[in-house]
Amino acid sequence: MTAMDYRAFPRGGERASVIGFGMGSIHEAKNERAIEEALEVALDAGVNFFDLAPSQAAPFAPYGRVLAPRRGGILTQMHLGAVYGANGMYGWSRDLDAVKRQFSRVLDTLETGYADFGIIHCMDEDEDFDAMWENGIWDYALSLKEQGVIRHLGFSSHNPAIARRFLDTGLVDECMFSINPAYDYSRGSYGLGRANERMDLYRACERDGIGIAVMKAFGGGQLLDAQASPFGRALTKAQCLAYALDKPGVVTVLPGFRNAADVAEALAFCDATSEERDYSAIGTFAPQEAEGRCVYCHHCQPCPAGIDVGMANKYYDLARAGDAMAAGHYRKLARRAGDCVGCGRCDGRCPFGVRQSERMREIAAYFGE
Ligand code: SF4
Ligand code: SF4
Repeated sequence: MTAMDYRAFPRGGERASVIGFGMGSIHEAKNERAIEEALEVALDAGVNFFDLAPSQAAPFAPYGRVLAPRRGGILTQMHLGAVYGANGMYGWSRDLDAVKRQFSRVLDTLETGYADFGIIHCMDEDEDFDAMWENGIWDYALSLKEQGVIRHLGFSSHNPAIARRFLDTGLVDECMFSINPAYDYSRGSYGLGRANERMDLYRACERDGIGIAVMKAFGGGQLLDAQASPFGRALTKAQCLAYALDKPGVVTVLPGFRNAADVAEALAFCDATSEERDYSAIGTFAPQEAEGRCVYCHHCQPCPAGIDVGMANKYYDLARAGDAMAAGHYRKLARRAGDCVGCGRCDGRCPFGVRQSERMREIAAYFGE
């Protein structure tokens, strides 16, 4: 039996399964019954977070049949701006009437009066953001929030600069963002922003209490295939999921499932060993900008002084990014940087070339140890 983990969204406290259900590939299921089976396998394993923006409209019907009766026990993420033409194919729109019509259809599909998370869809360019303001979509979203039709307002983006514009409003609770090692190290067409800019965004989300739902954790499947991977090496699904879940701010990861077999394969992550989750191999093929920066991967464990090196680093970075809670979390660690005996084992084990023994002195000084 799979042991699903749950993480709470900072604003509201809803507990989401760390593996949620992405919808981007479900249209590839052989028929509607196969879609229902995929959903049932996920629900039985404790998946409770469901994205509702498929690549075609056809999957909405089986989604409604399975999820509507279980509405009270699941979290839904509905999109303002994903629309479907007469042929049922996905597109996106900044036209307010089209946005309203489709949002209403999705609510009807689930026989519900609310979305747990209502997100403004696919905001990748400044023009998208500006159109959202000018066309009344932002005001519409705020009015839905006021009425309780949207419980939490969010957005989806691949671009850290646009995500920052949303964070600056102070009014969003959730961010759907593409996170994987290829994008984080500027590989692939959606890998927008440099590594530092992206990591700073994740830290800002954690600092501001904005939960991240991760899309494209497998880089659209490219990272799973040595031929297609921009690194020339394949990663496993467990490694990609662990990578995303280690990033600050991340609450859930939403792989795009095609059928029940895909669901089962991703759910194997829940029972995977720490060796199977270990993604430190990316340190051997990530570009130079990965060098010397802790990615909280835990590969340098165990520390003879008992320090959770990755967590100490994460809280340090978050505290410096202005996260008021991070210092408190750091001080609750059983062993802290001040306990470091300088043995250097972590330096030798770190695939990212972090001189962690030096950094431990820096962290201890920062926290006054
Ligand atoms: S020091 Fe290196 S091995 Fe240890 S958590 Fe950080 S990146 Fe991973
Ligand atoms: S140098 Fe410090 S943090 Fe690193 S393994 Fe040794 S005691 Fe642990």
